[in-house]
Amino acid sequence: MKQQNQPDLFSSLATPFRVPVAKPMLPKAQALMPYLEKLDESRTYSNLGPVSQRLKQRLDRLFGLTHGGCALTASGSAALIGAILATAGRADKKRVALCPSYTFVATVSAVQNCGYDPHLVDVCANKWTLDPKALINHARLGEVGLIVVTAPYGRLPDLAAWSAFSTDTGIPVVIDAAASFDVLLRNRKPLPKAVPVVLSFHATKAFGCGEGGAIVCAAPDMLLRAVRAINNGFLGNRNVIGDNINGKMSEYHACVAMAALDEWGPKLAQFKFTASAYVQAAKSWGMKPLPMIGGPTSFAYGLARLPTDAHAQELREQLHGAGIDSRFWYGYGLHAETDFGPFACDKMPITNTLSRRLLGLPFFGDLPAEAMHDICQIMARVLAVSPATPLQSGAQL
Ligand SMILES: *Cc1c(COP(=O)(O)O)cnc(C)c1O
Repeated sequence: MKQQNQPDLFSSLATPFRVPVAKPMLPKAQALMPYLEKLDESRTYSNLGPVSQRLKQRLDRLFGLTHGGCALTASGSAALIGAILATAGRADKKRVALCPSYTFVATVSAVQNCGYDPHLVDVCANKWTLDPKALINHARLGEVGLIVVTAPYGRLPDLAAWSAFSTDTGIPVVIDAAASFDVLLRNRKPLPKAVPVVLSFHATKAFGCGEGGAIVCAAPDMLLRAVRAINNGFLGNRNVIGDNINGKMSEYHACVAMAALDEWGPKLAQFKFTASAYVQAAKSWGMKPLPMIGGPTSFAYGLARLPTDAHAQELREQLHGAGIDSRFWYGYGLHAETDFGPFACDKMPITNTLSRRLLGLPFFGDLPAEAMHDICQIMARVLAVSPATPLQSGAQL
């Protein structure tokens, strides 16, 4: 790409699409005011102040955490680093960290920032993430000091199985469930004590406050270590304990999150309403398989699973031609990045296929019916082409 100067670089980020792939909506300024005014009174703008303490209580209750609780962070990335420091600490003798290649870049960046050498592992075809049964036989397990398991598109892995894996092997496991806020609320199973679950409250997630996140801990000692890890090693006094960063949530972001939580009920209802209209539109075009929205995955995404790479590429191109954006959210896997890595990595047959066929469609609460109609019409047309018929295929993401 041509080198660009600063203003052009930022203006080029503006979407040229009639229908963007995501269109976040956070609380309006007016809804923030009652919370922001509390800051004028408290004059506490960060440092686990009253608004973030209140937010923590609300989230703990929402997740049914009677022991432990949420350590609130400045971002999902900070929560990942905090969770790693709280469980495994910085890399020491066992420097290898296993993670999926099919994930957002932040998973591996957090691992690197804690001093580990990432080793990328292929995902399992059913769950789209690491399989504890397969990993127990991994050739490098003896060198492994950390495993980070992604919940792709918010889809949760078997948390109990990972907890058992961690207890049996003694290897710390962190769940990167950054996009799982709404999925975690639908998950009625109790959270395992040994494994922290990381959330992001980035604007593009189903529940967002701009930038923010949480380390969800089901055990009090885990919560204590997580809060210290993201609070410069402090808790209660000036005694620094353990590896740490400043990764805590500011009171300003806590204000946005409080207002977002007030609106969560209606927001979720709108997600459900729009998702069901989308699926109805897909059905009316005779589309199979139907788009995946909500259920096991987060309402932050609308996913289409195409039968071949060429179908996915063709769909992307046809949507693009109609002014509609789409995205391979995790690229073609981190092993395929050209200017990041290279990392030690296993063979990637499943990631190579899945990443090229699971396409992110536009989805957001107020996605217009007309856009859904256009998307489904294009998709039905592309899907009607038999996999045996050659389709033209580009190589761009
Ligand atoms: C969004 C996301 C992150 C990063 O969260 P931030 O809040 O943007 O730092 C990490 N992992 C996954 C899987 C994500 O979806």
